[in-house]
Amino acid sequence: MKIDLRSDTVTTPTQKMRDAMRDAVVGDDVYGEDPTINQLEELAAKVLGKEAALFVTSGTQGNQVAVLSHTKRGDEVIVEENAHIFYYETGGLSTIAGVQARTIKGINGQMPIAEIEQSIRDHTNIHFPRTGLICLENTHALSGGRILPLSYMEEVYRLSRQHSIPIHLDGARLFNAAIGLGVHPKEIAKYTDTVQFCLSKGLSAPMGSMLVGPKETIEKARKWRKMLGGGTRQVGIVGAAGIVALEEMIDRLEEDHLHAKALAQGLSRIDGIEIDVDAVESNIIMLSIDGLGMSSEEFINQLNQFGILVTSASLNRIRLVTHREITGEHVDRTVEAIKEIAVNFMKVKQ
Ligand SMILES: *Cc1c(COP(=O)(O)O)cnc(C)c1O
Repeated sequence: MKIDLRSDTVTTPTQKMRDAMRDAVVGDDVYGEDPTINQLEELAAKVLGKEAALFVTSGTQGNQVAVLSHTKRGDEVIVEENAHIFYYETGGLSTIAGVQARTIKGINGQMPIAEIEQSIRDHTNIHFPRTGLICLENTHALSGGRILPLSYMEEVYRLSRQHSIPIHLDGARLFNAAIGLGVHPKEIAKYTDTVQFCLSKGLSAPMGSMLVGPKETIEKARKWRKMLGGGTRQVGIVGAAGIVALEEMIDRLEEDHLHAKALAQGLSRIDGIEIDVDAVESNIIMLSIDGLGMSSEEFINQLNQFGILVTSASLNRIRLVTHREITGEHVDRTVEAIKEIAVNFMKVKQ
């Protein structure tokens, strides 16, 4: 069995999910007649304290229909420069939503408040586009699963109300943020207009994301989803797993965070591995192997020979993600394997 630390997306559905999928009562969701999806949407809205929710096929689709629902063609969207919505969605902002991105460099996913404020356009100026949306990401994936503090979310929210600009939160790993902060997910969602979260990552459902928000926005999103080909039929078959995900899989994310911390601590004691243990706030670990002088590719290949899969993130960093199928024993084996690779490589170098 491989130890797959590439992403929490590799989690497979639990037995309970498979049972729920087999027995799901379904109907045509484009007609709004899939009872399982209707139940899932009600549950998602309730969990986040919002009016309504929409099942979407992926996080990317959820984010894009959110942008489409909040903005008009030609608007400008304020987004952190490493945010998934900007960086990893194949240019959907411009191609699908027809908006332009105003990127701001953030620190651990936090765009400086003053810079957000300075970036908001005065649309009465004939030269300027309208600022249509502010996007946040919590946890922030590319910085290593960093958590936006509630105080930060509140500050951005206050600013957005002053300027009457909606906030969309890419909360692909929203529940990791809530667990990390020790708060109910509603406490995060209340500083947003819409939130997208993934059922398919740490929560272990086979597919799907939810977009939650005000009824009116979600109804717009439903129509955009149809345009993008995301109107599906007896989709309660997979939605049933989403219900199990929300009912049973949130609290256990704590375990993934503990494993990530333990992994980071173990790795921090290895010469040549650079890692900031304090920066590990959720289930993602970023480490630098610059101290080894080995290429990321070679490092990944060598780890592969131990049956351990990891990926490289930007800036020559290695990324490890913990999830339900990673055990304490896997954590120990990974630390041992990386130690062996580091020690052997140092010997060869001398
Ligand atoms: C995974 C992810 C997404 C997209 O989800 P998909 O289901 O892979 O399309 C969006 N935002 C963030 C931060 C993610 O980590």
